[in-house]
Order: sequence, then C-alpha cells, then structure tokens
Amino acid sequence: MRTLEIGDVTITSIVERDGPWRTPEAMFPAYDPEQGRAFLADLDPVVFDAASGKMVITYQTFVVRTPKHTILVDTCTGEDKNYAAPMDFPKQPWLDGFAAAGLRFEDIDYVFCTHLHIDHCGWNTRLVNGRWVPTFPRAKYVFHKREYAAWEAATATGANPPGEVWRMNCLPVVEAGQALLVDDDFTLDDTVWLTPTPGHSPCHCCVNIKSGGQRAVVTGDLMHHALQVREPGWFTIFDWDKDEAVRSRRSFFASVADTNTLILPIHFPAPTVGLIGSDGGARFTYRFKRG
Ligand SMILES: [Zn+2]
Repeated sequence: MRTLEIGDVTITSIVERDGPWRTPEAMFPAYDPEQGRAFLADLDPVVFDAASGKMVITYQTFVVRTPKHTILVDTCTGEDKNYAAPMDFPKQPWLDGFAAAGLRFEDIDYVFCTHLHIDHCGWNTRLVNGRWVPTFPRAKYVFHKREYAAWEAATATGANPPGEVWRMNCLPVVEAGQALLVDDDFTLDDTVWLTPTPGHSPCHCCVNIKSGGQRAVVTGDLMHHALQVREPGWFTIFDWDKDEAVRSRRSFFASVADTNTLILPIHFPAPTVGLIGSDGGARFTYRFKRG
C-alpha cells in the first residue's frame, strides 16, 4: 500500500520501522508451533522472515485525507524520547515520509490514537527548548477519555509501561488545550468514527472510514500479525486484558468477514491493507489487497 483510495478519501502510509522483529513464540504465550507452521506455510510470505524465524512487523502512521480534513491515525514512536532497546530504532524515516506525503505539521487537523501505547502516540509531541509540545499546532488530538485516565493513573504509580510515555506524549497535548477526550462512540462526521475494541489496552478503539459506499477500518493493535487472524486466541505479551482482547478480535473479525470492508492493521507490512474471510467458526483468513 502506498496510497489507497476509498470514495473521496485517500489513505497513505508513513513507515517508521519495518522488517523482522519478534518470533511468534516470544510474542504469543499460547502459541502452538506446529499449528503456527501450518498457518505460515499458507500466509502471504511478506509477513514472516523464515531465515530468522521472526514475524515481519511494521510501525506506521496512516494519513487520511477526506474532503474536509487531514487526519493522522497513530503516530509511531516519535523522536528524542530516549526509549530503551528495542524501541530505540531510527526515527528519521517517518519525517521523510511525512514530507514525501506533501505535509507540513500545520496541515494536520486531527490526530487519532487507537490507543496510547509507546508506538502509537510518539509523534504527538516533540521536544522544543527542553519542553514537550504538540507536534501539530492546529490539530485536535482524539484520545479515549478512559484510556487517557488509565495511563494517567498507571503513571502516578510509577508503573512501566507506561514509563514516561503518558507524560511525554499525552499530558502536554491536554495541557495545550488540543485534546478531545472522547467516548468510544465518538463520531467526527459521516466519514470518520470510532468503535470500541478493548483488551490490548484499556479502551483500544478502531477508526472507521467510509466514503462512496466503501468502508475501511484502521484496526490499531487489535492484531499485530496475520497469525492472530488465523487464530484469534493467540493473545500477546503486551495485552492489558488478554481475554477481552481475544473477545474483541473474534467479534470484530466475525463482523467484517466475507465483506468488502478494507482492513488496515498498523503493524502489518506492505501492502498492509487486506480483507478478512471466515474459515469455519472461530478462525479467519487475511488476504492482502494488491493493486
Ligand atoms: Zn503497537
């Protein structure tokens, strides 16, 4: 996927980081290697690096241009945050991609965060004269209010996660008066709206986009890899509530299976966008949409 067109809307990917990342065994505590091998033999080869045994995981932002707005969905890890390994990968490709998309910081009207994890809110802020300030001076930032409150509370206890993530990436946006703290039924207009898919984080949401009779859904971290479409029960080591995460995955997949709803998972490598199909009961398929 470079740019996807849906009716009057275009969606462009800005990649921060790409390539082999983790083994399925390290990511999914309930992983069954034999079952996994069978799934991987069948999945598109772009999702797995056989040489290293690692899943290919991309970090990216989607730029959504509607007739009314220029929107970013999820903002990667950002720059100057001094995160520990492995989150210390180079950040420059994102800025180059942002410029290549023809964008300046002041062009962005809205920033949506599917959730407030380290790799989804990084470019929300940048360091200017020693202070974290909103990167996009004209933008309203849409945060789920209970997601925001949960990470505020976790920060107050010194928990890691979130470490400094909330303090650097979320609080300065609220202090600048640029945040919209919303519920999980938030609707921006007849083109863009949220639906709740909690579990991976306290109030994880999907961002729906509709134009010209076509729907696309940015699914954030509802799934990190196509293996979790094949087996939605494979929760991750990063899930806030693993049972709720599995429930959200199953019900979302069932709701879009065998429809023409385009799926945009943040961590799926190019071409990223795809369709979900049913595969008898509790399992599903993921087919990349090419061209
Ligand atoms: Zn993520």
